Amino acid sequence: MPFNISDIRADFPILSQTIYKRPLIYFDNAATTQKPVQVIRAISNYYEQDNCNIHRGVHYLSVKATEAFEEARNEIREFINAHATHEVVFTKGASESLNLVASSFGKKFLKPGDEVITTIMEHHSNFVPWQMICEEKGAVLKVAGILPDGQLDLEHLYSLISDRTRIIALTHVSNVLGTINPVKEIIAHAHSKGIPVLIDGAQGVSHIPVDVTDLDCDFYCFSGHKMYGPMGIGVLYGKERWLEELPPYQTGGEMVKDVTVERTTFNELPFKFEAGTPNVEGVIGLRAANQYLRNLGMDNIRAYEDELLKHAVERFSAIEDMRFYGTAPEKASLVSFLVGDIHPFDAGTIIDKMGIAVRTGHHCAQPLIDHFGIPGTVRASFAFYNTIEEIDKLAEAVKRVKTMFK
Ligand code: PLP
Repeated sequence: MPFNISDIRADFPILSQTIYKRPLIYFDNAATTQKPVQVIRAISNYYEQDNCNIHRGVHYLSVKATEAFEEARNEIREFINAHATHEVVFTKGASESLNLVASSFGKKFLKPGDEVITTIMEHHSNFVPWQMICEEKGAVLKVAGILPDGQLDLEHLYSLISDRTRIIALTHVSNVLGTINPVKEIIAHAHSKGIPVLIDGAQGVSHIPVDVTDLDCDFYCFSGHKMYGPMGIGVLYGKERWLEELPPYQTGGEMVKDVTVERTTFNELPFKFEAGTPNVEGVIGLRAANQYLRNLGMDNIRAYEDELLKHAVERFSAIEDMRFYGTAPEKASLVSFLVGDIHPFDAGTIIDKMGIAVRTGHHCAQPLIDHFGIPGTVRASFAFYNTIEEIDKLAEAVKRVKTMFK
């Protein structure tokens, strides 16, 4: 065991409660993770001592808040190993980061007949923005398929590339299947043909060490709330040359350099993409979450979550009639399943009554769920504060579901 689980659990007050007279078991971490006291305190300290609008202020509080905000940006840069702090743009979440790139990239670079490639395993947040901008620009959205075990079909993906391909946008880790895509290899292949690659890292950063310089991705997007930080804050990493070229996504205060009645010039990076008062408390909380993850060590987190996943697969495979979705060899710590023909909502409702939070439905990945021809799945997604014993309790709950529907 790389770290002490009871110490870790003590940092997450929400986990110590009972629901339906049972200890809460939280397996909905892919939807949002819980927050350690370090994050909660950082936010309340900020409001008790430092709250102020940032940038341009000459007074003490404004300077202090601005410094904390910009230090946080630098720590996020270090966390993902970006070259420069101005390549780290704060947004309100992965969805906004993805919408920003689709909209700004599309406006500047997509022409009728151009092509964008994505995959069937995308979350709607990395699918719909591309679908919409392609429609607006008369471009074509091409969708790479998957293999039966939930791995991306690389041969299919590569066969879709043509001289009209302008960008490839794909997820690092599937929120339904858990598949970890070989993004480094895909990026190298795309770059050999001069095509930039966007990675949706919403399910990546909390589970695996991410190094954007090593990956050489052009854009990498993620949310704070899925990495133990607050909601309403996210990050867009973009290579300087792309961020320089893209037009602003939103306009307003802070993102401008000079405004006259006739025209406006825009601020330098990253402020060109940060219109209006930013979510300062979100950035402060994200910084605390990031420090928490660094203290644990992303390699330790990965190793422990792999143990959880291995145990879950062993336990659940022993239950008759379990149907698994996503069994790729490279997988993050989640299991998506159906119990025989039992509707996922029914299964999820019974599991909930046993004190266990799982997510049911299409997980905002309808094209993927349609591909399987099912109504959805039950998804149990694990975090480093979960335990082997909790997984055993879920296995018991699944057996209970089976008995009830017999
Ligand atoms: N991408 C993936 C793979 C996700 O799992 C999610 C959320 O579940 C998102 C994007 C969107 O994240 P958010 O809702 O935080 O913007």
